[in-house]
Amino acid sequence: MKQEKAVVVFSGGQDSTTCLFWALKQFQEVEAVTFDYNQRHRLEIEVAASIANELGVPHTVLDMSLLNQLAPNALTRSSIAIEQKEGELPSTFVDGRNLLFLSFAAVLAKQKGARHLVTGVCETDFSGYPDCRDIFIKSLNVTLNLAMDYQFVIHTPLMWLNKAQTWKLADELGALDFVRTKTLTCYNGLIADGCGECPACQLRKRGLEQYMAEKGAMNE
Ligand code: ZN
Repeated sequence: MKQEKAVVVFSGGQDSTTCLFWALKQFQEVEAVTFDYNQRHRLEIEVAASIANELGVPHTVLDMSLLNQLAPNALTRSSIAIEQKEGELPSTFVDGRNLLFLSFAAVLAKQKGARHLVTGVCETDFSGYPDCRDIFIKSLNVTLNLAMDYQFVIHTPLMWLNKAQTWKLADELGALDFVRTKTLTCYNGLIADGCGECPACQLRKRGLEQYMAEKGAMNE
């Protein structure tokens, strides 16, 4: 039997779209929440809204422009280049982003009578973001439960998957083509296979190639 209701933190990218399909399989009722922090690519929010609409998932966009004010960053300022210097976090990192997003998602979820939160954070293709770590998610889960006196369960279906395995999961959920053609991961704001050049596209492409090669080998 499917369990209860879930809210998926949803950006319209490969990972969170895969999580949305995962949640639709697991839960009776699913809603999605997208954060508007004046991201460099406004298209991200449109893509998220259109995917949610296509899947019949109620969708809330929450204004988090405060985050932009606090943390000027390559994802929000086109004047800042997307880069990663040796031994440093990439310039796409925003301090506290997942902490804030998940906390606001939890407030929304409680209002909507949902106990389950789903997020696509992942430690495997880890860029060093501290708030993508499993230990952080577990700690936040306890904090949220205490903060709101409510039994949240944070689900991280991608936590231990690499990009190839995330593609495999999408395929198992019958969503490989959907995720491939409708999601936006590219830092340069191009849907589907993207620009092919930025770090996000390269990661996505390598994972897809690896998964397709494995799948091909299995079918031979
Ligand atoms: Zn790209």
